[in-house]
Amino acid sequence: MSAFGQPSELGRIFNVQRFSLQDGPGLRTTVFLKGCPLACAWCHNPESQSAEPELVKVEGRCIACGSCHGLDESAACVDACPTGAQQLLGREVSSAELMEEVLRDRPFFEQSGGGVTLSGGEPLLQPAFVLQVLAELRRQGIHQALDTCGLGHREDLLAAAALSDLVLFDLKHMDDGQHRAWTGAGNGAILANLEALGQVHGQIWIRVPVIPGVNDDAANLEATARFVARIPGVRRLDLLPYHSTGAAKFRRLGRAYALEQVPAPTPARMADLAGVFEAHGITTTVGGHP
Ligand code: SF4
Ligand code: SF4
Repeated sequence: MSAFGQPSELGRIFNVQRFSLQDGPGLRTTVFLKGCPLACAWCHNPESQSAEPELVKVEGRCIACGSCHGLDESAACVDACPTGAQQLLGREVSSAELMEEVLRDRPFFEQSGGGVTLSGGEPLLQPAFVLQVLAELRRQGIHQALDTCGLGHREDLLAAAALSDLVLFDLKHMDDGQHRAWTGAGNGAILANLEALGQVHGQIWIRVPVIPGVNDDAANLEATARFVARIPGVRRLDLLPYHSTGAAKFRRLGRAYALEQVPAPTPARMADLAGVFEAHGITTTVGGHP
């Protein structure tokens, strides 16, 4: 049972990360939910994309003992492996269990002005669970942030946003074809959702991953800035420089990583790009640090 006297909703998560400084104000506990409607080529958390638990093999830990050979169930492989080379990512929790876990960090939230961020994956794929967790966090007086890629049902987005002190909203590309090519889906519903959200929520931070050769050209950045500048609820925009931390995770999942040769943008380049947005009157950070 949840504290409301309703049955606890079940959700599927793959990580709870404590003491994060990048997912909203103060020290945060970030809950990563499993499942995403996008498949971004640069994704830092490719293990989040599938809604199902996934078996991964950790490089360098396999001693070729053969214990897992012939087993066709993921959980059996994990149980059989003596070295931890086989791991199953993703677990089911109830909202009550998750609340118990995150409330341990309440003193850190109070000292730092932090709170809890629901991220992923895409939280809007599990609306009943997310709404129950957000409502409970609000009841407990804990600052809450929703981190969304923006692709979800409009009513779920607006309902979750109404229970969130802050919405972190990702924008990846303004060109529909390029968006589809790099993320697997067009941007029409995302942009329309942001426009609707911006009319009713006053604390939106836009997050733009800067991927050299993908979305850092002048035309795209200018189009992004023009679009964002006319959304009333946007308070700031974070430019997040590309880095290749997702590459090893793609390998563990047995998937190809398309951006192997892409260099991280330099601090000077990021500062130049921030200027594009500031010229439109948008408060802009590099890396989420004001
Ligand atoms: S929206 Fe985020 S979690 Fe989903 S695929 Fe893209 S980068 Fe990964
Ligand atoms: S059980 Fe683990 S260590 Fe043994 S072969 Fe399988 S993955 Fe390698």
